[in-house]
Amino acid sequence: MGSGKVTDWQGKHVTVAGLGVSGVPAAKVLHGLGAKVTVVNDGDDERARAQAAELEALGITVRLGDGDTLPQGTELIVTAPGWKPDKPLFAAARQAGVPVWGDVELAWRLRGPDAAPWLAVTGTNGKTTTVQMLASILGAAGLRTAAVGNIGVSLLDAVLGDEEYDVLAVELSSYQLHWAPSLRAHSAAVLNLAPDHLDWHGSMEAYAADKGRIYEGNRIACVYNVADKLTEDLVREADVEEGCRAIGFTLGTPGPSQLGVVDGILVDRAFVENRQKNAQELAEVSDIGPPVAHHRPSKEGASRPHFVAPHNIANALAAAALARAFGVPPQAVRDGLRAFTPDAHRIAKVAELEGVTYVDDSKATNTHAAEASLASYESIVWIAGGLAKGATFDELVAKSAKRLRAAVLIGADRALIREALARHAPEVPVVDLDRTDTGAMLQAVTEAKRLAVAGDTVLLAPACASMDMFTNYNQRGDAFAEAVRELGAGA
Ligand code: ADP
Repeated sequence: MGSGKVTDWQGKHVTVAGLGVSGVPAAKVLHGLGAKVTVVNDGDDERARAQAAELEALGITVRLGDGDTLPQGTELIVTAPGWKPDKPLFAAARQAGVPVWGDVELAWRLRGPDAAPWLAVTGTNGKTTTVQMLASILGAAGLRTAAVGNIGVSLLDAVLGDEEYDVLAVELSSYQLHWAPSLRAHSAAVLNLAPDHLDWHGSMEAYAADKGRIYEGNRIACVYNVADKLTEDLVREADVEEGCRAIGFTLGTPGPSQLGVVDGILVDRAFVENRQKNAQELAEVSDIGPPVAHHRPSKEGASRPHFVAPHNIANALAAAALARAFGVPPQAVRDGLRAFTPDAHRIAKVAELEGVTYVDDSKATNTHAAEASLASYESIVWIAGGLAKGATFDELVAKSAKRLRAAVLIGADRALIREALARHAPEVPVVDLDRTDTGAMLQAVTEAKRLAVAGDTVLLAPACASMDMFTNYNQRGDAFAEAVRELGAGA
């Protein structure tokens, strides 16, 4: 079962590690194929019991409260992607020579002989946006496609469902890649690499290596970020199919085999005849949504009605590169980018009050994302803080200091940001909110409103996870929007 396709599941002893979004469907599918499935789960709470009861009714064995003992006779483990590689269950599996697959590996192995090829995307930030842009471009080219993986439709559903696809736009997390040893994409992109989830992977090297797996066995193109050398290094280290090309994307003028930007135009110098001399116009930067509201006039005094966040230009170029690798015509790139609408809480404009724009980028849950977000506006009252997940803030604050009108800090680890501000931006006024109740966001926005002047942006880009105060980043963003509306109503 270590390599090759498993076609006969009848009677195979498979242990599914972890109930939840990937475990429950995986257990059902494997059971349906005739495997003898045992689910093991660390937790034994009410939700787990309800899920267990549902599976047991089908004849699946479930062991709650012990995710670390390898069930007797296990021939394969299918794990939830989030389970850490250093768990005793996996040590036991190694010792017993039992392979471990994640949800992505399972989907990859279960796909049919005529399955749609995968265009895969990973990176520390921008995955969801890029995969959605890609699906939009593929759709504009008339291809049957969906954004799947770590987003929307599950890969198992996409691979086994009735819907037929020509090509899939697949978002993959570093965890999923870790557990997907035999995945071979048509083409893949690593958007960027910054320290994240290092507690899980053990080191930056291990994190990068897991991200780099996305390039293994690529057939047509390995897409990398010219501005992020680590991504290019990963391409160089990958073992790809003969003839597979390295394609760079850049916010600057593209060289041969690159996509880039010239005078506000997205330009392809990779998928054209005679790329030494020729270039193909794909779209205008202004075709990319969402526009970033900019009130501050430019130096010439003219306002800039459609400014696009640089990180979204990068995401669009990466999506375009993958689509072009699949043979999509230039026109579809433009139409797809025009049709794309971003998910909520990604530099979403909430309102404009008294000349101040309020923007929700609650999804900026790490410093790398927040840096991109802060680089998109010129004069900012920054609402930040939450759970730092081991991050440091010096670089972020030093790079963004000149754009900060003021900062309002919330959440458990706000002292770390306050100290970085004191070191690198001592002149920036800071409000430190020592409360974590549900009213805290309203107070944060009230303080931000007091500090902002017309033309500023009040930007929620927390650089931290939300779970100290909120259920998730969605709820945090909603609380921000709600607070802005309340202030607006009272104004
Ligand atoms: P992911 O799926 O990787 O979390 P998203 O597309 O959901 O990425 O974007 C998450 C956040 O990351 C955004 O809200 C924005 O702050 C930031 N971001 C998006 N694209 C990029 C990029 N290319 N580089 C840096 N930061 C980005």
